[in-house]
Amino acid sequence: MTDRVPSSPPPRRHLWLLLAIVVALVAQLWFGRSDVRTLSYSRFAAELAHDNVAAVTIAPEARALVGTLRQAVRVDGRPVTQVHVTLPFADVAPLVTRLEAAHVPVDGADTGSPWTTILLSLLPWLLIGGFWFFAMRQMRAGGAQALAFGRARVGAVSPETPQITFADVADVAEAKTELQEIVDFLKNPEHFQRLGGHLPKGVLLVGPPGTGKTLLARATAGEAGRPFLTISGSDFVELFVGVGASRVRDLFAQAKAHAPCIIFIDELDAVGRTRGIAAVGGAHEEREQTLNQLLVEMDGFQPSEGIILLAATNRPDVLDPALLRPGRFDRRIIVELPDVRGREQILRMHARKVPLAADVDLNTVAKGSPGLSGADLANLINEAALLATRRDKERVDQQDLEDAKDKVTLGIERRSLVLTDAERRITAYHEAGHALVNLLIPGLDPVHKVTIVPRGQALGLTYAVSETDRHNYSKAYLLGRLAVAQGGRVAEELVFGPEQVTTGAAQDFAEATELARRMVSQFGMTAALGPMGLMARPTPLLQEREYAARGEISEQTAQLIDKEIRRLLTEATGEAQQLLQARLTTLHAIAAQLLEHETLDRAGLEALLAAAP
Ligand code: ADP
Ligand code: MG
Ligand code: ZN
Repeated sequence: MTDRVPSSPPPRRHLWLLLAIVVALVAQLWFGRSDVRTLSYSRFAAELAHDNVAAVTIAPEARALVGTLRQAVRVDGRPVTQVHVTLPFADVAPLVTRLEAAHVPVDGADTGSPWTTILLSLLPWLLIGGFWFFAMRQMRAGGAQALAFGRARVGAVSPETPQITFADVADVAEAKTELQEIVDFLKNPEHFQRLGGHLPKGVLLVGPPGTGKTLLARATAGEAGRPFLTISGSDFVELFVGVGASRVRDLFAQAKAHAPCIIFIDELDAVGRTRGIAAVGGAHEEREQTLNQLLVEMDGFQPSEGIILLAATNRPDVLDPALLRPGRFDRRIIVELPDVRGREQILRMHARKVPLAADVDLNTVAKGSPGLSGADLANLINEAALLATRRDKERVDQQDLEDAKDKVTLGIERRSLVLTDAERRITAYHEAGHALVNLLIPGLDPVHKVTIVPRGQALGLTYAVSETDRHNYSKAYLLGRLAVAQGGRVAEELVFGPEQVTTGAAQDFAEATELARRMVSQFGMTAALGPMGLMARPTPLLQEREYAARGEISEQTAQLIDKEIRRLLTEATGEAQQLLQARLTTLHAIAAQLLEHETLDRAGLEALLAAAP
């Protein structure tokens, strides 16, 4: 997986700089009190005898004096006129008499108790120590942000009502439909509930970076015209211990005061990572405290109080399972990368802000920018406007857009996949193969959507969603699943020949093999092994060979299992081959549609299937 670290606000280096300067200044003032040097009492007495003392300030409590000399004396090789002298006696009266006799003006100083002096002299060290302490805390709190200090804006999460609405979010129709329910609730909670509406407490927006999750959350609040309280998970993690938890409390208290409203936690993964998996250093306890507080608060309110909790993440896989339990973030809304049509819509929306030349064709730009997110596309329009300005043009033309696209995609290529034409073609057939086999085998979960919009390391995806919650699977169903899994590679092979097949099927094979293994060794679904439950509690790391090595199953049984797995997979491949071979025209049609539109939904697939001779 391409790991995309959620973007974080820029580190506030200048704060550190400021603090360092202050510390340096204080230290300078303290140690360097320009040229006050300590002089022994005998040397001072000698200077007094030589009539070299101009004035004296005595601090009897501290048993010390500061004297000003007429002529500089050398202390440690430096000429000094201000000297600090510790007195070897407590009674200063005789000294004062002597000074007065020498016509030296004498003044008294109240330095307070010696403790004050000691504390004061420790001050710079305390400052330096404190500085160091916080530096270490910050270092532990997170590598790159080591120097991001001073984010401790405790409390004060001020509500705002965003001015944007769903009309400002292009594409993502499915997500908008799901969020509309929340809008209806916020607009009129009592009415909504009187009609029996039941809402989840927490809704999690899941999707790659830049797909408009934050935008959607704001638009939901804006659409309902209700307050929006937001905090980012990454704000929590580098705070001082205890502050994160208190901000969570504050957040919910504020929300209760402003209900009906939305609480939005951006980058939930930053705070909601699985507890107990040791993080490096001490950011850990703080995050756990914050997370625990969040769970406590979530359990402590009812949807009837008019608060909806939204959160966004691009790493749902790392979230603590406690967060996903019923009554917490139990609903997910998936926000996908846009396909061609979506990209065109997003481009169109952002292009409204810039003057366009007559030759501009946003559809062409959309076709040429697979894998780009909404944020990338907004950036593309922005870059094009900058280019046009630099080129002294009145309007943004197609050339500017194409150049901007190249610039933006170059940046993207490094962090995700942008497919070549050949790769797209083979991916389209691969996914078409999965989808078609799925369509042709009765009793399987229907294909919800097929896409060749790359996502992480996956080049494409075929989503099959079961219509009912299944808890028990038949052998026929599982055999069908095996055939669907093989369908991808089989389609590649049918169309491009055995030499051209790609590594794209590795994940399919891994899943199919695991499924077949369980059919053979746990579900008792093959005659050769019979109704035996071997490896009752399989762990992914313990394969049957290791069980054999540990004497739990015999070597023959292990071999038999292997043989049966291979047989199941080979038969599944055979079935997929037969099905696809018979429907080659439909396979080509699906692939062609995928190449053109990048996604196909269930209706589109069924239409293609029905259209075939
Ligand atoms: P995410 O939170 O998913 O990382 P954001 O909501 O922060 O993404 O999106 C960043 C920017 O990208 C938005 O402010 C907007 O300009 C643009 N953008 C992203 N998705 C869309 C979309 N569907 N429609 C319009 N603009 C979008
Ligand atoms: Mg965001
Ligand atoms: Zn596949």
